Formats: sequence, C-alpha cells, structure tokens
Amino acid sequence: MTSLRLGPGPSPWDSPDKKLPTGELARYDVQSPTPQRYHIASLEFFVDDTETAVYRGSLKQPDNPELEKVVVKTDFFAETLRQGALEHEADMYELHLSSLQGLSIPYCYGLFQHKGEGDRVSSFLVLEDCRDRIKDASSLTNSFKYGYTFHLVNVVYRVFASRLKALDALYGIHCAGYTHGDLSLNNITDKDGEPFFIDLETAEPHKCEMSERIMVGEEKRDIECDEIDICCMLLEIWADEDVNVKGFFVFRRAYLRRENIDFLLSRLIHHNRNTEVFRPFVEQLVEKIEAEREYWRKAP
Ligand SMILES: [Zn+2]
Repeated sequence: MTSLRLGPGPSPWDSPDKKLPTGELARYDVQSPTPQRYHIASLEFFVDDTETAVYRGSLKQPDNPELEKVVVKTDFFAETLRQGALEHEADMYELHLSSLQGLSIPYCYGLFQHKGEGDRVSSFLVLEDCRDRIKDASSLTNSFKYGYTFHLVNVVYRVFASRLKALDALYGIHCAGYTHGDLSLNNITDKDGEPFFIDLETAEPHKCEMSERIMVGEEKRDIECDEIDICCMLLEIWADEDVNVKGFFVFRRAYLRRENIDFLLSRLIHHNRNTEVFRPFVEQLVEKIEAEREYWRKAP
C-alpha cells in the first residue's frame, strides 16, 4: 500500500489546537504495483481556511532524489468532511482525465486518507503545484503566443498565459468528455505561461457540441456550449458589449448593423433634433463594426 507522511505544518488560524496527523496516510483506491512511501516537508499555508486548507510543500518520493513542489488540499480541519467530493476529484485526475495531467490539469500524486475519531475519513489530495491563480483576466495575453514582461533593472522575466491557450485547455477537458463544473478565475492557474484548471470536485460528464473556432475580440455570439461561453466571459475573450464613441454616446455593439442606421440615428435625437448631421459618422462606425464581423467570419 502506498502511503504518505506529512511533515509538521501550521494549523488554520481559527483551529490552532488541531494538528495535522503525523501517522501514515493510506492512498485511496489505486492499485499501485509497488507500495511507495511518500513524505511531504516544508508545509506552508497557501489557503488558510478551515473548510478547505491548502498547503504548499516539497514531496520526497523514495525513488527520486529530486523534491517535487506540490500542493496538498485537505478537508481535515473542516466541520463537514467531503470524502465523496475529493474521491471524485481524484478520479477525475487519475482516471477520467488522466491523459491531460501535467498539460491542462495538475499531475496528481494521489489522494490520501486519514481515519479519525468515529471513523471520520478526512482527505489529503496531493497535486503538482501549478502556481498562482489568475486574479484578473487582464494579466492574460490575447494570442496563442506567450506574453513577456521585462524589468531590465532587476532582470525580472515572466511569461503570462494567453486567453486562447486557457480556452483551449478547457476545450480539451470538454473533448475528453467532462465539464469543469465550477468555473471561475480562481480555478485557473498560470504556471509560467501554461494555464491549468484546478478544483475538479464538481466535474461532470459532458458531450461538447461546440465546433466553431473562437477568436479574442470577436463579438459575442451563440455557441453550443454554456461552460465555454462562461469561460469566454471570464477570460474577457468577447468584444465589449458597448461601443463608446469618444464619450459622446454609447451604442450596443449588437445594434451596429447596416439595417439599423435609421434606428441608431433616432437614438441621437437628444443631441441634435436634426439627426441627419450624424448620418455620415454613424455609417462610418457601422461599416467599421461590420468589417470586423466579416473579418471574424472569414478567419481561418
Ligand atoms: Zn462543451
């Protein structure tokens, strides 16, 4: 049986007297050919919360001299344990989406379980550390290429993930037959330019009907998948819904069409009773937006 031992680590601020278990934790389910003993040291809080405490630490595997950077997600301090949800999440990594491990979802080192008082089973899910969660879609780049920032004085170099790469990673999960189930920027990380989807506790089987390509800056349109649509909104892939013309007036982008020009002019009557004076300007704006639509329609 493969087992895990946790080095000493801090307890959540509102549960200071409860300490992490020091004994061996048994690995959930998987029949591993050779039993292994893992050890995780240098545990530090990443998320200090009694409901879901998340640690960062260094994993020592018996046959590997290198230490792996991992996160440990646990419900050990929670009042309500989530054994089923965490077993489901481990199954997602190790069984259903195993081919995506290390690509668009973290590599999973296993789910380890601790039997406490009254046979309460708490869970410790050990995953590859896929670094920081995306806080703001504006930190992502637009294309498939990486973004870079240079601070020449300090020689700081960072690669940012791109919106399309993140969308593509989610599409890969859908093509493998599952939704993420709890999509938010908080559940997408950026590991040196590679986006990863984490927290698969509520992933569900899914048959993705989406077949069209989506481009950054495209006008929002109906696509055949709700979760991909949500992802496009979270990652700010769709064009802004409003077109602001020099702070003078704001049009809904969806209305900017050739057949709507008289309607658009009627919206400007409070600027000038003779709305015809705006006609050349509105026509020019509509042509610009229609040209953008045409461009996206023809995009390869
Ligand atoms: Zn889908």
